[in-house]
Amino acid sequence: MTEPAEALATEKEARDVAESARETEWEHPSFARELYLGRFRLDLIHPHPPEDTAEAARAKPFLDKLADFMARVNSEEIDRTGEIPEALVQELRDMGAFGIKIPKEYGGLGLSQMTYIRAMELVTSKDGSLVALLSASQSIGVPQPLKLFGTDDQKRRFFPRLAKGAISAFALTEVDAGSDPANMRTTATPTEDGAHFVINGEKLWCTNGTRAELFVVMARTPDREVKGKNVKQITAFIVDSAMPGVEVKHRLRFMGLKAIENGVIRFDNVKVPRENILWGEGKGLKLALITLNTGRLTLPAGATGGAKAMLRVARKWAMERVQWGQPIGKHEAVAQMIAKMAANTFAMEAVAELATALYERGNYDIRLEAAIAKLYNTEHGWRIIDDTLQIRGGRGYEMAESLARRGEEAIPVERAMRDFRINLIFEGSSEIMRLFIAREAVDHHFKLAFDIVKPESSMKERLSAMAKSTPFYLTWYPSRWVGAGQLKRYGEFGKLATHVRFIERNTRHLGRSIFHAMVRYGPKLERKQAVLFRAVDIGAELFAMSAACVRADMLAKKGQTGAIALADTFCREARLRVQNHFRNLYGPNDANLYKLAMSVLKGEQAWLEQGIAAYGTEMGLPVAQIAQEESVRPSERGVLAGIP
Ligand SMILES: Cc1cc2nc3c(=O)[nH]c(=O)nc-3n(C[C@H](O)[C@H](O)[C@H](O)COP(=O)(O)OP(=O)(O)OC[C@H]3O[C@@H](n4cnc5c(N)ncnc54)[C@H](O)[C@@H]3O)c2cc1C
Repeated sequence: MTEPAEALATEKEARDVAESARETEWEHPSFARELYLGRFRLDLIHPHPPEDTAEAARAKPFLDKLADFMARVNSEEIDRTGEIPEALVQELRDMGAFGIKIPKEYGGLGLSQMTYIRAMELVTSKDGSLVALLSASQSIGVPQPLKLFGTDDQKRRFFPRLAKGAISAFALTEVDAGSDPANMRTTATPTEDGAHFVINGEKLWCTNGTRAELFVVMARTPDREVKGKNVKQITAFIVDSAMPGVEVKHRLRFMGLKAIENGVIRFDNVKVPRENILWGEGKGLKLALITLNTGRLTLPAGATGGAKAMLRVARKWAMERVQWGQPIGKHEAVAQMIAKMAANTFAMEAVAELATALYERGNYDIRLEAAIAKLYNTEHGWRIIDDTLQIRGGRGYEMAESLARRGEEAIPVERAMRDFRINLIFEGSSEIMRLFIAREAVDHHFKLAFDIVKPESSMKERLSAMAKSTPFYLTWYPSRWVGAGQLKRYGEFGKLATHVRFIERNTRHLGRSIFHAMVRYGPKLERKQAVLFRAVDIGAELFAMSAACVRADMLAKKGQTGAIALADTFCREARLRVQNHFRNLYGPNDANLYKLAMSVLKGEQAWLEQGIAAYGTEMGLPVAQIAQEESVRPSERGVLAGIP
């Protein structure tokens, strides 16, 4: 067994760990993957997968109950006190809200992913702390990996508890392991007889950790030797908080999500039976990534719920508030924000629901769509909240309680903003999502042609790679210029047909551009994040446009013709963004920006920071001391920590 090194992982180690967890094969088709390869496979998403009416009927009683519950919840009080009252948690348990997707045979509601994301959308539209409690439990906590990878015995042991409302948590992050799991320090050491593993380490920012009964804990098991090299192993364990040695060290508090049950969780010689390993030794990180493929479908739906709530606020206020002789919504600057907000909200819903419907249809690889949906909807959702705050003016910045105290409607835009911001960071930050998508976008070319462009390749390697890749590129490359799709008019989309033709043309353009970038930079392309990220964003826009057109077509056929105007406006705006990204693909200012950043990092521009006050002390106490004294509520000491 090799002890984990104390030093932080090198860049190479970090990449190796990420690569080893990557799913390398594409067993099933993916519209988004094809898109980055320059192929517009409309047939994969159109017609939009139909609504499952039987599931909708099954889900209705639960969704009605949840809607009634949400109407009664006092989210302002939850935000102000930083606590979710136990009675509310119990009510959620009683209606089965912690076991929405758990099969009925284990006591769960047995409902679909689509129902689940709609439930989370509903909750997010009003309360970020509540959605964190429910979704950390079900999107990334024990039920999801258990469903995907659990043995029958594990399912029998844990599902019934979870269905009854045992709260669960997912513990991956550590102080040095944020986006980069190669720095993980938590270890799980096998006992001599191999029947148990002893977990030691500390997990940071673990949502639900302060009240979870069950955890998925990621820990390093002994390295394995592969071809003479030590390969880091990360394994997923189901850990019961009642096991001796599980301790809540701190409850953590944030800018928003004031009542989130998030903490630093210490595992001190926690003895876990081998039977609690999920999937297999060394498969933990891959399990986390696969779990997140579906887990990531929740945030895009939640973001849509938030966007819809903001749209309602902005629409009402922009008509009600009169300044300079007319409702502010009639001034062009505000009108533009309202139109974009509505169009983007429509597209966000299209993205979230299409990705989920494709997942439910099965035989479809959702990983890129889920990553795009997470990235796209959280970033667009954030802008929508920002615009809503702007439209509400001073009232947008004022706390709801304060508005109410002086007799105005208690509209919590500032709370929405505080609660929303983290969505761009957790479950894969925007940058990590772009890297993840970029990795897949270039994968096919790298596999086929990497050895041709790699400077250190020998002539033999180059020739062999050329022989391997020539048949593909001989047909692929010319058809990225002139494709059969060009001849199609897509007339069934009516007014939107022009946008579908744009998507087809620009999908081919994107495929060519990614290939050209690889030829231009060779292996250095992986360091050209600005170029890669623009290519990723073009693909995300084209995916969102496709989703919007396909959804609008489906809704129009059902009589909701308003969808066409929303999709049309969305596509017009998205086209401008796509054109802009293509124009600037190689970023004329990229090199200069990087150079200046390096100079700033070296401190050469620190002179600019003169004349400001220092951070780091509050109330006269060093920040570290405040943390010691206040981060755990007296009631939590002992009880939640499992300390007698
Ligand atoms: C409220 C809250 C709840 C959370 N819940 C959980 C949970 O339940 N379970 C859990 O395990 N974790 C949880 N987390 C942790 C969360 O997933 C991490 O914060 C996230 O993974 C990012 O890690 P980090 O904060 O250490 O950022 P870092 O990894 O330090 O990154 C800092 C910045 O650098 C960027 N960056 C990093 N690497 C690169 C790169 N290679 N290229 C370009 N940019 C890069 C990042 O995008 C980010 O902008 C939670 C965090 C918070 C705040």
